[in-house]
Amino acid sequence: MLRINELRLPLDHPEDALRDAIVARLGITSADLGAFTVFKRSYDARKPSSITLSYTIDLVLADEAAVLARFAGDRHIGPTPDTNYRFVGKAPEQLAHRPVVVGFGPCGIFAALILAQMGFRPLVLERGKAVRERTKDTWGLWRKSVLNPESNVQFGEGGAGTFSDGKLYSQIKDPKHYGRKVLTEFVKAGAPEEILYVSKPHIGTFRLVGMVETMRAEIIALGGEIRFQQRVADVRIEDGHLRGVVLANGEEIRSDHVILALGHSARDTFEMLHERGVFMEAKPFSVGFRVEHPQSLIDKARFGPNAGHPVLGAADYKLVHHAKNGRSVYSFCMCPGGTVVAATSEPNRVVTNGMSQYSRNERNANAGIVVGITPGDYPGGPLAGIAFQRHWESRAYELGGGDYIAPGQLVGDFIKGQPSSVLGSVEPSYKPGVKLGDLSTSLPDYAIAAVREALPAFERQIKGFSMRDAVLTGVETRTSSPLRITRDVDCQSLNVKGLYPAGEGAGYAGGILSAGVDGIRVAEAVAKSVLGDVTVV
Ligand code: FAD
Repeated sequence: MLRINELRLPLDHPEDALRDAIVARLGITSADLGAFTVFKRSYDARKPSSITLSYTIDLVLADEAAVLARFAGDRHIGPTPDTNYRFVGKAPEQLAHRPVVVGFGPCGIFAALILAQMGFRPLVLERGKAVRERTKDTWGLWRKSVLNPESNVQFGEGGAGTFSDGKLYSQIKDPKHYGRKVLTEFVKAGAPEEILYVSKPHIGTFRLVGMVETMRAEIIALGGEIRFQQRVADVRIEDGHLRGVVLANGEEIRSDHVILALGHSARDTFEMLHERGVFMEAKPFSVGFRVEHPQSLIDKARFGPNAGHPVLGAADYKLVHHAKNGRSVYSFCMCPGGTVVAATSEPNRVVTNGMSQYSRNERNANAGIVVGITPGDYPGGPLAGIAFQRHWESRAYELGGGDYIAPGQLVGDFIKGQPSSVLGSVEPSYKPGVKLGDLSTSLPDYAIAAVREALPAFERQIKGFSMRDAVLTGVETRTSSPLRITRDVDCQSLNVKGLYPAGEGAGYAGGILSAGVDGIRVAEAVAKSVLGDVTVV
């Protein structure tokens, strides 16, 4: 197979133009060209009035070698790389103890799936409920202001990304093409095929629910076991080696291989691990607000006369500003045509995040506008970032006046430093509700100053971004883990063998795709350890 990169065509090209463009690019006849498939499709909207599509095409030719020789110096034409996934081994007939996976978010799902596919029959322990029951609890907070601290946006089957925009792209380096394995498994579980070829795939929240159930069923069919409402409350460590875990109900489970795929909100579990001496360190993360604009404004700014084109869908954006006080402000987890959601897992705290449906057809665009912070901003050891998050999440709850109502302010008023009292043209989507006021004391002064400077600066990239009526709600504190449970080259904890910290909570992923990729990586590390394979993971 041969691959062509960056084959450009106008946005509104007829279907057969692709075949013609391939033939022209390669200087062959149409008869020479066999089957072809689109591996990736992206768009270039730098000139909104003449948006182009850029294709990566895999194709079969009558005489591939001759064409490759002719294009030897052309970096856009070459053999198609092999992206097929290959297992690192097969489980032995007899296993003393099954590997345990703690947490069933994207990292735990892929760790368990790969282990199951290799025959290791993993045992998964998840503190939250199965996804359908969890959905009811999550909506309980949004509709009735009732939080279940064990079953919510952060905790339960599917993990933190279940109620999300379901964006499935990442900027991680992925030389072994694990990301392709993640996407392929998602398609097998019911995701639309297009996630394999569009450059910024997303699946929205409702589809994820069904996909998670399908993947659970496959793990069970392969001999794995998944237990819900089973919180790991302690670990057994003997002579620097993990020997098992203890559940909140007192049950002890023996295992020499435990993957910790906890997510970034398992604060009690981080505290327990720290008490038990598992090495961890504070790491940078970001804090800020969610901003909401009319989606039509973003579409127009990004796509001009092509706004609303079905191939483009609802427009997204990615913005960065380096503020005078040295802070970087950037857009985070942008959700086109979505809603702002209440994302706390702890009582009497307010946290914002965003989600959407596959159609992305809600009225507002939302994104986190967040400021990078480092352990120097929250000195005091590995857990100090959690104390910092809790402080500002409690402050947001107080400013919102209780019942998980989020504090908010119009962008125009925030820039001027004056409180807001009446909404304008943008209706905020956060439920249970937004209380307008003054956000200037909802985050540290340096963060407020940096966001205040960034909003007008973003206007230069997206016309209308600093419109008076756009709404800020806060606070956005769970952008990534505030700590890292550092691991060695074999993916095991630096000081506890047999313990495999993984995914976002351990500081090794940031998003659904990268968490899934990390799950594959640690599953392979566990398999290699069991099989006595000492090659580098
Ligand atoms: P998690 O998904 O957080 O899963 C961890 C699991 O561990 C949880 O289910 C938890 O209940 C369980 N657990 C924790 N402690 C214990 C314990 N002691 N015992 C047993 N179980 C435990 N990312 C994207 O890429 N695209 C998006 O569009 C996107 N949108 C998002 C929208 C929202 C509202 C949120 C909250 C997040 C979003 N993210 C998105 C981020 C993404 O969800 C995370 O990066 C990803 O889920 C991390 O995966 P993980 O498996 O490492 O951890």
